[in-house]
Amino acid sequence: MDDFLKERLVKYDTWLDRGQISFSSKIIPIRESLSARQWVLPSEQVLNILQNAQSIAVQKCGCRVHFSRCNKPLDVCFLLNKTGEHAIGKGQARSVSLPEAADILRKADEHGLIHLTLYRPDHEIYALCNCCPCCCHDLQLMKIYNRQDLVVRSEYVAMTDKDLCINCGKCVERCIFDARTFDDSQMLYNSGLCLGCGLCVTVCPARATVMELRDP
Ligand code: SF4
Ligand code: SF4
Ligand code: SF4
Repeated sequence: MDDFLKERLVKYDTWLDRGQISFSSKIIPIRESLSARQWVLPSEQVLNILQNAQSIAVQKCGCRVHFSRCNKPLDVCFLLNKTGEHAIGKGQARSVSLPEAADILRKADEHGLIHLTLYRPDHEIYALCNCCPCCCHDLQLMKIYNRQDLVVRSEYVAMTDKDLCINCGKCVERCIFDARTFDDSQMLYNSGLCLGCGLCVTVCPARATVMELRDP
């Protein structure tokens, strides 16, 4: 395992063993995947996290700088409160206002980045990340090293209307959680594997997929 990933996994496992965290991160669906009525909730979730922070800093995405596997935006990794202040003190981040943070969030949504809130002991959210599946440390640990316990799904689930679906397969390429597969020219969807990121919604040419609140 890459040292970059190993360092984070050792930290997470130490916190998990001590019962200081229940998981390392949680997915929040991208806003463009939700209808105007629906996206109020996740949008508020994200903005509330920023609003409730005493200070917000933004730094370059460490995962994309390290792995360089895509050209998604770099300046989209939010650090909150003392974590941000510490990074600013070391010259690794800069302070941002709430309106600027909202603009950065919008840019991340446009690029289809997955929102993850990152947790540290006492379940404190210390970062609000905008992640790509190819570089993100948590998504790699989850997918490649089978640590599904580290990442918690969002409150939303994708629902596809099979009558509208034209079996183009675009959502299959988009879903990094293997909830969508292609078999004999048919798109097959297993909603049990959906983590609610919303990335399949924005690519569907038939508007066959929407996000719905998951049953509690
Ligand atoms: S967790 Fe996400 S935004 Fe944060 S550094 Fe990694 S990929 Fe970048
Ligand atoms: S089906 Fe896949 S891409 Fe679509 S919301 Fe669920 S996890 Fe995300
Ligand atoms: S992107 Fe839409 S139309 Fe294409 S296979 Fe997926 S649900 Fe069907």
